[in-house]
Amino acid sequence: MGGQHGTPDGGGRDVVAGLDIGGTGTSVVLLDGERVVAREHAPTPAREGGGAMAATAAGLVRSALGATPGARLVGAGVGAAGVVDAATGTVVAASDSFRDWAGFPLAAELGADLGVPVQVENDVNAFALGEARLGAARGLDDVLAIMLGTGVGGAFVLRGELYRGPSGAAGEIGHVTGFGDLACTCGGHGHLETLASGRAVARAYERAAGVAVLGARQVADHARAGDPHARRVLDAAADAVGRAAVLVATLLDVTDVVVGGGVAGAWDLLGPGVDESVLREPPVSGAAVRVRPSALGRDAVALGAASLAPAAAPVAG
Ligand SMILES: [Zn+2]
Repeated sequence: MGGQHGTPDGGGRDVVAGLDIGGTGTSVVLLDGERVVAREHAPTPAREGGGAMAATAAGLVRSALGATPGARLVGAGVGAAGVVDAATGTVVAASDSFRDWAGFPLAAELGADLGVPVQVENDVNAFALGEARLGAARGLDDVLAIMLGTGVGGAFVLRGELYRGPSGAAGEIGHVTGFGDLACTCGGHGHLETLASGRAVARAYERAAGVAVLGARQVADHARAGDPHARRVLDAAADAVGRAAVLVATLLDVTDVVVGGGVAGAWDLLGPGVDESVLREPPVSGAAVRVRPSALGRDAVALGAASLAPAAAPVAG
């Protein structure tokens, strides 16, 4: 175990880096044990390609190390947007807002640049791990994480470990059906994402109110100011999230749920509706379903990723 007061020979402290490479921003935390000793953030150069994105991420890690005298980097974990092959650390598929990201060997490139082993994971999976190990679901072995971002993602931590499923697609709760009949980004209809994603919330408000908004945060602001259209749209999102949580609790007996992503920033408005939805149709087991907002906020993905960092063997003496 690494001490936090330096080794007797003054060789410094072992730290790991956790990275969150998202569509708009890249964040880095440096961890000494569970303690965050440095943070860095920069816009993601998504349009400049995988090489530029990896270089930006590595630069942020070096800045964080530069701000932490005596820190010695021993490994890094990355939560990355897109479908990720965790075994090889390669991005398999990504949205079209990224250039040259699908196929990019992120773990290899970043590992070569930083000189430490790197583990790459999908960002929603990293979020789930972060909340289960350090956040709102700390100490719980079985957790469903739901990310209400531009789209809706999900991930499972089962028996304390990430559960990816045979094809790596476990937890894709954004695309379960039974939530109305709106067209989904995936080509389907009536998926959870069509009611609860940031994009869906904004579009639903625009349809109802006939006024353009920048995103879900603005809808939440309108709701807090008493706008009934905004309230109804967020109530519908909350009801959908609650029903999805009950669906999972019924199938898997996983009753602890953590909700993150930009839309979860409106938890003051969503929380009561989610609780009401969960109580209205509880799972047949009668077990209580507990849905909580993210406790780690913007750090969740990076902290979860850091917990995956391959720990280089500590150097003795
Ligand atoms: Zn869908």
